[in-house]
Amino acid sequence: MLTPNLSYANLKESYLFYHIAQRTKAWLAEHPDKHLYRMGIGDVSLPLVPAVIAALHEAVDDQSEKNRFHGYMPECGAPFLRETISEYYQKRGISLSPDEVFVSSGASDELGDILDLFDRSNRALIMEPAYPAYVDANIMAGREIVHLPSGPDNHFLPLPKEGLDADLIYLCSPNNPTGAVYNRDQLSQWIAWANARGAVILFDAAYEAFIEEDLPRSIFEIPGARTCAIEICSLSKTAGFTGTRLGYTVIPKDLERGGLNLNAMWIRNRTTKTNGISYILQRGGAAVFTEEGRKQVLGNIRIYKENARVLMAALDEAGAHYWGGKNAPYIWMQCPNGMGSWEFFDKLLGEIQVVGTPGEGFGACGEGFFRFSTFGDPADTREAAKRLLNLLRK
Ligand code: PLP
Repeated sequence: MLTPNLSYANLKESYLFYHIAQRTKAWLAEHPDKHLYRMGIGDVSLPLVPAVIAALHEAVDDQSEKNRFHGYMPECGAPFLRETISEYYQKRGISLSPDEVFVSSGASDELGDILDLFDRSNRALIMEPAYPAYVDANIMAGREIVHLPSGPDNHFLPLPKEGLDADLIYLCSPNNPTGAVYNRDQLSQWIAWANARGAVILFDAAYEAFIEEDLPRSIFEIPGARTCAIEICSLSKTAGFTGTRLGYTVIPKDLERGGLNLNAMWIRNRTTKTNGISYILQRGGAAVFTEEGRKQVLGNIRIYKENARVLMAALDEAGAHYWGGKNAPYIWMQCPNGMGSWEFFDKLLGEIQVVGTPGEGFGACGEGFFRFSTFGDPADTREAAKRLLNLLRK
């Protein structure tokens, strides 16, 4: 008889955001007349920008004509997009060749798929609080997980320390959920540690576009990263592609382990397991990196940043303790009066109809904290901030 992947039995019953959605839906069924202020899931609320929409329309038209039509696309990405993305890095002083850039259908998909490159026996180190998919994807793969907790003491930016033992390191900067961003010196410490022990860093840069201070937006800004890091990025939050789906992954050609080249391995993987990403989407994605597209997506990011400012002003006025909000679209707040994070979730939902995300869902060290997403509707965010301030003042 067939044996299923028994590692699935080790997963929590449901994925965090699915669980929140179910809990919220149940509450709404009992209170159908109430409006909810949704600041839970990190999903965007603004539509795609005009430059992207125009490129998508044009690409649809291409597909209607014999001499402009595209069939299967190259498995690792269309050359026009790989070149555009390598130029995007070049503008930031990072030299990458286009064939070190792989176009993907999003960071989540890639974070799961990339595990194909690594043996099950490797130990995965996950800095926590963390995006829950890191943990779940490794549990599914049957891999041992080393949890690296962080907290206010280290500003939610854990560093390598003596006795730490792992092979695959997840770093997310700017971090979801805490909004913390590693500086150059801190990333150098991780790179030195990974190179010294032959580990590989999976660097999740999904929120790089939100950094406004002088902090690294790519791990490849730091010397030594080319021999130990893979960078996973996405247009979801940069350009509102959450429902459109497009991302990219950088695997330097210098990255080798066990006599194998990881860039070559990923080419082998993609050419076997995918038939490329839709031509239409890749055209839409390329428009994000044009001068006009860049201006427009930054305009949307400014709107989300204004949401963050409004929320932070309310939290400041309430005297709340929080992190993030400046270089990231998340605000990470300490629950008031020692409250548990699910307890605070229920209180906000029941009393002011604001939906956030309990910190406990991002790892045990997230208990006692709460995440607000700033991707919501600006009017809703203003109202939520007002309600939050009143509640915290009581
Ligand atoms: N990585 C992090 C840290 C995220 O927070 C998210 C989504 O919220 C993703 C990856 C997934 O992005 P995508 O929409 O590209 O799958």
